[in-house]
Amino acid sequence: MLRVGHRPGRDPRLTTHVALVARAFGARRLYLHPPDPAVVESLRGVRERWGGAFEVEGTPSWGEVLRAARGPVVHLTMYGLPLGRVLPRLRGAGELLVIVGGAKVPGRLYGAATYNVSVGSQPHSEVAALAVLLAELLGLPDAREFPGARQRIVPRARGKRVVRAGARRT
Ligand code: SAM
Repeated sequence: MLRVGHRPGRDPRLTTHVALVARAFGARRLYLHPPDPAVVESLRGVRERWGGAFEVEGTPSWGEVLRAARGPVVHLTMYGLPLGRVLPRLRGAGELLVIVGGAKVPGRLYGAATYNVSVGSQPHSEVAALAVLLAELLGLPDAREFPGARQRIVPRARGKRVVRAGARRT
């Protein structure tokens, strides 16, 4: 994942939500442009408590992240081709670099991406677009395991139940 157009100090909450969705829905890593140590730190705390290997890394150059991509680059944008049309080409394409923008997206990104993909050709949110793409590609995150978690949620019809690692199942 690559998040461009982040505004440190202005939208840490939205970018943190992008990172949380990326992690929960099965992405491996998020590059953040420009870098923001507050978001990196917040996700490190999530990883310590809830496990998994998801990492956030600040990058001063989104171009470098694109050049290092080992597979197709999927840019989520309301102006792109409908997801349903592109999905068959993404499934089985191996490692993907998925890009979401912020308030303003650099025009060069549209040309640099392998696929510009829309989730409904209407403006909405990078968080929603990302969740839909990852759920379509990797399936619903219901059964995903996060090794090394200090705590985990026991799903319940009502109320909240969280157990610590090592606690006996009841
Ligand atoms: N004017 C921007 C653009 O060029 O797409 C829209 C900015 S929007 C507030 C922030 C991000 O949400 C976009 O960069 C894109 O990643 C995502 N996004 C919004 N609507 C989308 C849609 N319908 N399909 C896919 N991604 C979308």
